[in-house]
Amino acid sequence: MYIIKTPNIIPYLFKDYIWKVNTQQKEIFLTFDDGPTEGVTDKVLDLLKIYQAKATFFCVGQQIEKNPELFKRIVNEGHTIGNHTYSHPHGWYYPPNLYLQEIEKTSQIIQNLVGFRPIYFRPPYGKFSPSTKNSILKNYKIVMWDILSGDFDKNMTSIDCLTSVLSSYQKGSIIVLHDSLKSGQKLLEILPQLLSFFSNNHFKMSSINSTRFQSNLKFNFSFHLPFMKS
Ligand SMILES: [Zn+2]
Repeated sequence: MYIIKTPNIIPYLFKDYIWKVNTQQKEIFLTFDDGPTEGVTDKVLDLLKIYQAKATFFCVGQQIEKNPELFKRIVNEGHTIGNHTYSHPHGWYYPPNLYLQEIEKTSQIIQNLVGFRPIYFRPPYGKFSPSTKNSILKNYKIVMWDILSGDFDKNMTSIDCLTSVLSSYQKGSIIVLHDSLKSGQKLLEILPQLLSFFSNNHFKMSSINSTRFQSNLKFNFSFHLPFMKS
């Protein structure tokens, strides 16, 4: 079970993570998880180029090993990459030491290919064991999201996915999409429409970027508790 729009209370409870970008600009942050995948990620990159959009790719180590050239292309085309573990385990049901090893292994694969380590991490399923949290935060900024597209859900049509994103996005929203084999077909149906919508509405589509993180943009979030007046 999951919810499309992260409730406001969640970022309040988990302040150490990035949920949304605090910006007054018309700007949106597309993120792609679980790739790189041949036949999907390459098409995503072509589409992003057409719309001059930048995005953030949370890559799985196993997939990077399968598609190293595609991974390099993501980096060469100016997008941001993040670590999404090696084999995509569920952090609640996986030994913490092995989980941390998976993250490290993936960062080493990335370093060997492109010469730098990623500074962002997104846990698969958005879940990880509390005992791994401090170790992860020592080396990475943890990026969550405020909008799930639902592209991974076989019960949601592409129209459902589009509707859910377009009815809930805000300035600075971080939107989750999946450039995986499983979600690829649906993703490639909705992505052109999302890009065209945001482009027509003069939204900048940006990657999550550390320079801006440290300077003019604070990666905290706007929220109000249910009992507070907004
Ligand atoms: Zn994932």
